[in-house]
Amino acid sequence: MATIFSRIAAGEIPSFKVAESEEFYAFLDINPMAPGHTLVIPRNVEDDYIFNLDPKTYEGLWAFARKVALAIKAAVPCKRVGVAVLGMEVPHTHIHLVPLQSEADMDFRKEKLHLSPEENKAIAERIFQEYEKL
Ligand code: 5GP
Repeated sequence: MATIFSRIAAGEIPSFKVAESEEFYAFLDINPMAPGHTLVIPRNVEDDYIFNLDPKTYEGLWAFARKVALAIKAAVPCKRVGVAVLGMEVPHTHIHLVPLQSEADMDFRKEKLHLSPEENKAIAERIFQEYEKL
C-alpha cells in the first residue's frame, strides 16, 4: 500500500528525518503540537490500524519509538515525551511522540504551531544526533 507516509519514508516526499532503521522511520509532524512533535512509522505497512500489525512489526515499532523518545527527551527541553496513536487522518500506522511541558501540549484540537523550515531543520538535526548516540 503506497501511502503518503510510505512515500515520505522512501524519500519521495520531503520530511525532516529524526531517525531511521531498515524497517522504521521517524520524522517531524508537519503540523506540530509542540516543537519536536515526531511521527514514528513502519516503512511498509499492510494495515493502518496499529493493533492489526503482525507481532514482530508491532514490537519492533515500539522498540524503535522508545529510542526516538529518548533522543527527543535529550534534544528538546521538556518534562517528558507523551505518546499517542490516533490514525484518524493518515491511513498508515504511526505513533505520535510529543515533548511535553504540560498536559495542554497534547491537545489534538488546539491550533498547531507554525515553525520555519530552519527551526524544523535545527530540531530534527538535534534529535538525529541524540538518536545516533544511543
Ligand atoms: P492522525 O492520522 O494520527 O490523526 O494524524 C496524522 C498526523 O500526520 C497529523 O498530526 C498531521 O499533521 C501529520 N501529517 C499529515 N500529513 C503529513 C505530511 O505530509 N508530512 C508530515 N510530516 N506530517 C503529516
